[in-house]
Amino acid sequence: MPIVLPKGKKCAVILSWDFDAMSAFVLRGETTPTLISQGEFGARVGVPRVLDLCDKYNFKTTFFVPAWTIEVYPELTKKIFDKGHEIAHHMWCHEDAPQLSPEKELELMEKANEVIKRVTGKYPVGNRSGGFANSNNTIKLMEDHGFLYDSTQMGDDFHPYKCRVGDHGSVSEPWVFGRKSNIIELPISWYMDDYPHFEFRRAPLNPGLHAPSDVFEVWSQEFDYMYDNEENGVYVLTLHPYISGRAHRIMMVERLIQHMMRKKGVWFTRCEDVARCWKD
Ligand SMILES: [Zn+2]
Repeated sequence: MPIVLPKGKKCAVILSWDFDAMSAFVLRGETTPTLISQGEFGARVGVPRVLDLCDKYNFKTTFFVPAWTIEVYPELTKKIFDKGHEIAHHMWCHEDAPQLSPEKELELMEKANEVIKRVTGKYPVGNRSGGFANSNNTIKLMEDHGFLYDSTQMGDDFHPYKCRVGDHGSVSEPWVFGRKSNIIELPISWYMDDYPHFEFRRAPLNPGLHAPSDVFEVWSQEFDYMYDNEENGVYVLTLHPYISGRAHRIMMVERLIQHMMRKKGVWFTRCEDVARCWKD
């Protein structure tokens, strides 16, 4: 069992927030006022609500923030950090890593790392790539830049594992698994992300707009299963201030926190803290 949680902790819960603001809209060239305002909501309303929620229930968590967003909201990002939350790498402007050349991905990672260091005093140890998409180079780049963990892959549900480097294959040859890297994966999934459930987009169509009660059913049952069946389980939820910062949704997130806090030994914490529990 590679993750050994601190004594008295039965499982870990990471309610991570991807503080994108309008970065992904700008990346797609969606720079007209209404589209920008959709992302802006995350900074104006979402983040303050999220910070209040974390204070109310007295836990720290991880915010994955594109460096471009940090440049737009330096004071708000500093406020998040000063409250004890982790600021982790989330690309320069929410780029899709597989779309980048290896040179460009390296250039943007180094540029983003410097921006994060300016706010936090140290380079980030964690990464979540934009749009849940690592390139074939991402993990190697992370190793070269002293990262500890990634949270962009989906190979498990409740148990972190070591990412591989150098997988290859095709339909006409067997898949060859590459070497194990020293980057720890804190696995995510689309159903543990608020975006597909809630965010409405016309093109490409994402209907979204589900009732929070439906989503509560998915997220609470994932937790219940882990709590009852998976030793040293790690629950990673991906939330966005511009999506789950909306009133009826953040009420559901609070209900979920209360549901999980009713059980004994649940450790609400940051990605970095869980990754440091890895024992080889
Ligand atoms: Zn994002």
